[in-house]
Amino acid sequence: MTHWLAVAVHTPAHSSIAAPLTYRSAEPLSPGTLVRVPLGAREVLGVVWAAGLPPPQGALAGQVRDVAGVLGGLPPLDAHWRALIDFAARYYQRALGEVALAALPPQLRGLSAEQMARRLKRGGDGAPGTIPDTPENIALTEEQARALAEIDQNPGPFLLFGATGSGKTEVYMRAAQAALARAPGAQVLVLVPEINLTPQLEARFAQRFGADAVASLHSGLTPAQRMRSWLAAHTGRARIVLGTRVAVLAPLPGLALIVVDEEHDPSYKQQEGARYSARDLAVYRGRLAGARVILGSATPSLESWHASTPAADGGPGRYQRLAMPLRIGASGSDGGLPRVRRVDMARQPRGALIATPLLAAIGERVARGEQALLLLNRRGYAPVLHCADCGWKSECPHCSAFRVFHKIDRTLRCHHCGLAQRVPRACPGCGNLDIGALGRGTEQLEERLGELLAGVHRLGGQPARIARIDADSTRGKGQLESQLAQVHAGEVDVLVGTQMIAKGHDFRRVTLVAAVNPDAALFSSDFRAPERLFALLLQAAGRAGRDAAASAGSEMWVQTHHPQHPLYAALKTHDYPGFAARQLAERAQAGLPPFTHLALLRADARSQEAAQAFLTALARQAQDVLARDPALATALPHVTWYPAVPLAVQRVAGIERAQMLLESPVRAALQRVLAACAPLLQALRAAPEHRSIVRWAVDVDPLAL
Ligand code: ADP
Ligand code: ZN
Ligand code: ZN
Repeated sequence: MTHWLAVAVHTPAHSSIAAPLTYRSAEPLSPGTLVRVPLGAREVLGVVWAAGLPPPQGALAGQVRDVAGVLGGLPPLDAHWRALIDFAARYYQRALGEVALAALPPQLRGLSAEQMARRLKRGGDGAPGTIPDTPENIALTEEQARALAEIDQNPGPFLLFGATGSGKTEVYMRAAQAALARAPGAQVLVLVPEINLTPQLEARFAQRFGADAVASLHSGLTPAQRMRSWLAAHTGRARIVLGTRVAVLAPLPGLALIVVDEEHDPSYKQQEGARYSARDLAVYRGRLAGARVILGSATPSLESWHASTPAADGGPGRYQRLAMPLRIGASGSDGGLPRVRRVDMARQPRGALIATPLLAAIGERVARGEQALLLLNRRGYAPVLHCADCGWKSECPHCSAFRVFHKIDRTLRCHHCGLAQRVPRACPGCGNLDIGALGRGTEQLEERLGELLAGVHRLGGQPARIARIDADSTRGKGQLESQLAQVHAGEVDVLVGTQMIAKGHDFRRVTLVAAVNPDAALFSSDFRAPERLFALLLQAAGRAGRDAAASAGSEMWVQTHHPQHPLYAALKTHDYPGFAARQLAERAQAGLPPFTHLALLRADARSQEAAQAFLTALARQAQDVLARDPALATALPHVTWYPAVPLAVQRVAGIERAQMLLESPVRAALQRVLAACAPLLQALRAAPEHRSIVRWAVDVDPLAL
C-alpha cells in the first residue's frame, strides 16, 4: 500500500520551496520520523511532517518520489517539538525545512542503521531516570527560598530579577531538582548566552546532578559531540541540557523547566538565517510543553521588565517578577554591591587615558594582591590611522568603515570584511612619514598600562602582571580558556578587555572594575544603546567583589565626560528599576518596543540605489496585494512602512546594504503583512530589473536598527 507524506527538507536558501515536500512510502510513517529522501540529485535528511495525505492529482502525481530510507531505532520527534519549529519558521519568516533541519545534527544523515543502533545502545547504559543524591549543605537565603516557593506554586513565566552574585544559579539548580523530582523522565533546559560561559555552569550542574545527567549543546562542539548531546536530549537520557541559543530547538520529550540565564543578552538573537530570539522561543516553548520558564538577569531586557510590570489598573504582568536584590553574604545597606565612582574626565589632564585617582586605586589593589579589570569596548591599538598633512584616513576600500590599527603585527585590519594589510610606511596620500593614531583600543590600553604601572609592585615586590582578553587574543582554540584560567589562578593582576570579560565570569579576586571610555553609547543613534550600556556596566560591576570577604571594599569606576548623566546616576545607586522606568517612558513616547513591534526588510546589492529600489518595489507590491484581499486588508492600517534607507555601515565587502522598517502596535497585523511579503520577495528577485540583488532577509523583532 502507498502512503503519501509531507516531509520537511532543507532546500537551498531562498528557493521558492517553503513548505514540506510530498513523498511516497510503502510503509506507514508517523509524523516526526526522520527519513532520508531524494532531492534533485542528492539524498537529504528530512522530517515527516504530516502523514496520510490524499494522493496527489494530475501532473504532480508522476513526480512524487519514494522515501529512500528511515532512520531506524530513533523515536519520532514529538508534536511539541514540531509545533515549536512550525511557529519559529512562521514567526521569523523562514522555510519550515530550513528551521527544522538546522535544529538537527548534520551527522544524522550519514548514519547507517547499525551505527544508529550502536549509538543508542551505548548511551542507553546510563540507566535513564536516576537523579543522583546530592548533599544539601547550602542553606538557602530567605530571598532564594521565597523565589523557589513562588516558582513551585505558580505557573510563571518568571522573571528572576537578581543582583549579580545573589545566588540565581542556586535557584536554577533547586528549581531543576524540583522539576526532575516531580515526574519520571522530566528534563530541564538551561540556556546561557555565550559558549565561554557554558563550561563554568556545566561544571556546577554536573557536580550537583552528576556528569551523566548533563548534556551540553552549542556551536563549539565537534559534529560527534553534537550528535551525542542531541541524542541524549532526544532520547531523554540527558535530564539537563545546557547550551547556547541553538539548544532552544533541541528535542526534549520530557521538558518540564526552561531557564534562560542572563536573559537580556543580545547573543540570544540569531543574526543570520532564521533570525530567532532563543529567549522569546523559550517562553513560547514553555507554554507549548507545559513547562515552567525562568528568565534570569540582574539587568533584564526592557521587554521582559515591561512584561513583568503590573498593568496601570493593578492587574498582574504577563511574567511574574521575583526579586533578589541582595548579594550572598552581604552585610550592610549596599547589598554587598560595589561602590560606583564616576571620574569627571574634564578635570583630568587632556588626553589622559587613565585618571590619576583610578591609577592610584589600581596600584593599591595590586599591592594588596587583588585584581583589577579594565573594560574598553574597542579592540586593536587605535580605531583609525590618519595623516595630519593631507587628511588621509585608514578607510577600508571595500567598506564604509575605517580599518583598525593593530600594532602587534603592524596591520591595518577591517573588522567588517576582514581585509588586512601591512601598515604603510608613509602616508599613501602625500608621502608624509608621520602618520598618527586616532583613538584607543585594548592593545594600546594594555601597552600604556604597562608604562603607567611601572612603579607598582605586588606583594613580594614583583611588577604588576597585565593581560588582555579580546577577540584578537582568543582567536586560537583553547586560548580563552587558558587566559581565563590564568586570571582565576591569580597569575594576572590587571586584566584589560572588551565586553567579553564583563559577562558572567566568577572572578573571585577582582575587587575593582573600571570602564575606561563608555560615553559613546550615551549618544548612539541605536535606541537600545543606553539599555545595553547600563546592562554592560552593571554586569561589569558584578565582576567586582564576588568573594564575600572582599565585597565590602569593591569598586566600579566609570571614566566619563558626563558624570551627571542620568544613566550613570542610576548606575551609582544600582537602580535598575529607576533606569528601566525612565527608558520605558521614553520608548512609550517614541513608539518603540516593547510598545510597538518592529520588523526589518533588508536587501544587499551592488549599488545602494538597487538595494533601495528593490525594497521600495516590494513595499508597493505588498500594499497592493494586501489591499485587494479583504481578509488581509484589515492589517494594513495598523502597519507603518518607513522608506528604504542605508544601514549604519552602508557598505561591507563592496556590497551596499539597505533596509526598510515596518512598525506596528499590533503584532498579528505585522505578521500578516510579513507573510504576504515572503512570496513577493521570491518573485521580485527573479525580475530582471532586480538582478543585482545579492541577498535579502527579514528580521522580525530586530535588535538593532
Ligand atoms: P548569580 O548567579 O546570581 O550571579 P551565583 O549563583 O553564582 O550568583 O552565587 C554567587 C555565589 O554564592 C556562588 O559562589 C554560590 O555558590 C554562592 N551561593 C549561592 N547561594 C548560596 C547560599 N544560599 N548560601 C551560601 N552561598 C551561596
Ligand atoms: Zn598625507
Ligand atoms: Zn572592509
